[in-house]
Formats: sequence, C-alpha cells, structure tokens
Amino acid sequence: MTDPAPADLLVRAAAVHTLVPGRPPQRAIAVTGARITALSPDPHGLDDLIGPATEVLDAPAATVLPAFDDTHTHLILAGHSVHGVPVHRARDLAAFLGLIRERAARTPPGQWIHTTVNWQEVLLAEQRLPTTAELDEATVDHPVLVRRGAYNMVLNSAALRLAGITDDTPDPPGGLLERDDRGRLTGRLVNKAVELVERVLPRPALAERVAGLRAASADYAATGIGTVRDCLVPVEDLDVLLATRAVGALAVRVRALVSGFAARTPEQVDELLDRMDAWRAAGEDDDLLRLWGVKFGIDGGFEAGALEEPYQDRPCYHGRLLWEPKELVAAVDRVVGRGWRVGVHAWGDRGLRTLLDVFEEVLGRRPDLPPGTLVVEHGGLARADQRARAIALGIPVTVQHPLLHDGALAQQRAWGEERTAGIFPLREWLDEGALLAAGSDFPVGPYGAMVSVWGMTTRRTTAGVVGPEHAVDRAEAVALHTVHAARLMGESAERGSLRPGALADLTVWPVDPLSCPVDVLCELRPERTVVGGRTVHPAQAQAQP
Ligand SMILES: [Zn+2]
Repeated sequence: MTDPAPADLLVRAAAVHTLVPGRPPQRAIAVTGARITALSPDPHGLDDLIGPATEVLDAPAATVLPAFDDTHTHLILAGHSVHGVPVHRARDLAAFLGLIRERAARTPPGQWIHTTVNWQEVLLAEQRLPTTAELDEATVDHPVLVRRGAYNMVLNSAALRLAGITDDTPDPPGGLLERDDRGRLTGRLVNKAVELVERVLPRPALAERVAGLRAASADYAATGIGTVRDCLVPVEDLDVLLATRAVGALAVRVRALVSGFAARTPEQVDELLDRMDAWRAAGEDDDLLRLWGVKFGIDGGFEAGALEEPYQDRPCYHGRLLWEPKELVAAVDRVVGRGWRVGVHAWGDRGLRTLLDVFEEVLGRRPDLPPGTLVVEHGGLARADQRARAIALGIPVTVQHPLLHDGALAQQRAWGEERTAGIFPLREWLDEGALLAAGSDFPVGPYGAMVSVWGMTTRRTTAGVVGPEHAVDRAEAVALHTVHAARLMGESAERGSLRPGALADLTVWPVDPLSCPVDVLCELRPERTVVGGRTVHPAQAQAQP
C-alpha cells in the first residue's frame, strides 16, 4: 500500500456532523484537493495525513457541517443590488429619500440612480412605497429607479420620461402601471410593466457586473452558503456568470435557472433553449457553475398569488394566474423535450393546483422523464390534497422561510392571518414524505444559512410567530439545506453530506448550531466556509487568482 497523499486541510473540531444516516459525530476531517478524503472520531486520528503544506485548523470548540445550499435565491439580482443606494437600511421614508438625495449629490446629472432590492415597504414606518413626487424632491436631475424585488418599481419623473411612460400609456399585458383616483400615474410599476424600464436601462459594463457578483457571492459564502440555485437568471446575464467564474471570483457554486418570464410564445421559448443548448454544446458546465433549467411563474406573489377563496376584504378578487394552463403545458413540454429541467413559481393554492394539473399533463405525455425534472418553487399555500398530489407525482418543492419572515405583514393584509399562518406547511410536507429543500428567495427574504434554520424551527416573522404547528426541528431544517437540497439539485452523489470522496463543501461554526440556544442562530456566522476545498470565507484566506 502506498501512503495516502497528505491533506491540504485538516480540521479538528468538537463535532463534525456528517449528516450521513447513523454516523455519530466525528472529530476530524481531512480535505485533499477538491474532495473530502477522511474522517475520524478521534481529533488526532488523521494526524498521519499532515504534510509540510497541510493547513491544520485546530478548533476544539467548533462544529463542522456541510456548506448550505440556498435552493431558491437570486444571486444575479444580489449582484446588481450591490451597487444600489442601500435603502434596505432605511426605517422610514425620510431616511429612504435622504439616501437617494445623498447619492444624487455625488452622481453626475443624467446618470441613473437605482436602489438595493431587498426591502419591504411594510417595514417602513409609513408602510408604503415612495411616490414619484417624493422621488422628485430627492432629485430631478437624475432618473431614479426604486426597485423592490424583481417585479416592483417606482420611478421619478425623469425616469418615467426616459422610459416613455405617460398617463396615456396603457398597461402592458401582465403588467400594471398604478394610477391614482384621477387616472394619473403614481410612478409604481408592477409585474411585467417593469420591462418598460428594463429595456431603457443602460447596461452596466461587464467589469462592474463581475465586481457585483464577486461581492454578492462572497456575502452568501460569509453566511455559510456554498451553493446557490439562482431562480431567475436573465439569459443575457449568462455572460456575467461565465466571466465571473473565469476570473475566479465566484465564491459559491451556482445552478442557474434561466428566466422564462418573458417567453410567452413557442418561438420565444425556443430562442431561450437555443441559447441554453449553445452553453451545453460549448461544455460550459462544471462543478462550480451549471445551467440547471428554465424558470416560469404560474401566479403572482403576496398581492397576486392565485387563491381558491377570495382575498381578504376583496370578495371578487382571487389573485392572478399568469398562464393559460394549456400554454404552460406546451412551454414546459418544449423545455423538458430538449433535456432541460423546469422550476415553476406557484404561491397561492389555486396556483399550485393549476400547476399540478400542468405537471400531471406533461408527465402523462412523457412517462420517462427523469425524477426531479419538474420542481414546484414555493408552493406557499399547499392544501393537504395538493401535497398528496405533488408527492404522488414525485414533484420536489423548494420552500423559503425568510420570504415568509419578511413578507408576513404584507401577506396578512392581503390574505388574512389564518391563510398566512398556513404558508409553508413544512411539518406536514416532511411527515407526508415530500422531497423538500430550503432557500431564502432573497431579495424578498434575507439569505443566510442559520437565519433560515432559526425561522423554520421558530416560525418567527416580522408579524410574530405564525403557524408554529408547521415548524420542523433543527436537524430537519439543516437537512433541508444540505442532504435534501443536494438531492433536489440532482447532486447527492457529489455533495450534501460529509463523507470520503464527496466534494469538500463545509462550514465551521463557533458553536454547535444543532444545540446552541435557538436565538443565537439568527445572527450566527461561520468561522469558515469551504467550497470544493477552497476557503471562500473569510475572504482574506482566499487564494488570489
Ligand atoms: Zn424567487
């Protein structure tokens, strides 16, 4: 027998939770190259793997876990948002507008000013969005784009002018230009109306976009996340993912779902698929960056999710379905027919029911579809019969407590307390045998490994504790971000638990997240995040490319 190669990294810890069923906590773990090579129940059991170049991390109080997956998030948006006016820090509109005014003071006139996207107006003292008139008070010399999430914008007058939007502009299909009682624009654009602005926005230079992704991916890694599944990558942003990987600036693994939100016709779907096929033909996929599939949405969100029963105080309103089911069947069928996977946003119970009809139809046409090809994103309000159908069809579901955390107040207004409390019935999903994986849905909710575990176990939100009966325990919550997440991504042969031969994606925590006081989890950050053997957090330990 030849001696094993010396380790590049050896961690000794109080506990290494491997998440391999039946395996007790280990005390040492060794990494060589991109992979885990050995584990030992004895802190010194791997000492013979120490060579002259081995980094030994002696952390006798620390706990090692797999790095987390965020199975539904928006890294590209986070990258754009990095350079925005940080309005997510404002607690009222005066502070919000002050930040914009401050940015305007050091921005050349005529240049666009945009905000970060990870905030909620219900968390401002006034509980509303700013208006065009208020934004005009901050500046009339710059076009201002206030953006919240992907589908809500408010513009100042200069920006409305550049976008060519006037009081006479009709609502585009699937979009809303909000108007006051007298029919005048308020400046707010919802859903597909945001495309009117997107097409006139100057595209930042590639270097600036790479810098944004570098910073945003490092931020994810700093919270203990090692892999993100980006559920809304505009096809024109595939280049920035490639460019960021090429300069070694991608701190986390990325699984990209190309946005199908603008694809309504078979030709438009084919156009997306042609771009994706070109990526595949060029062999661009590697362990770090993969094109995963296409994302569609069947209904709206907090204020437009499609419900079986009417909205609170709006007896005739049931939310919005964004697709004719027949057309969505055709679109999904086209995507899977070319060997790609599909994730579809469904938020309300009517949205989920309709989506399951669509998936059932596609599966009926294609009985040989590999498991995990079709995924429900969110499934916010999932009734018992719908859960049973999803499970029977073998459809995995991604859930996001951070989205509920930040959105609970807005959702209670629209749906009432009872339905809001029923969102994300994790306990039921798991007990009934669903393949479930967890994420954040940043920018709607904050990302972070442990803030999500904290939320799933406490059901705490900005509206207090909601639906505590749907909570899961900590070990289950961790598994939703690791073992189950890797399964949902189709990568459990490579990642998700800590075992020899698996990719070395791990996190080192100052306390044991499985047993520390639960509220510690809310702010808990790892001492180190390792992805494929590479330390990606803290950043200073990262090898410069
Ligand atoms: Zn999302």
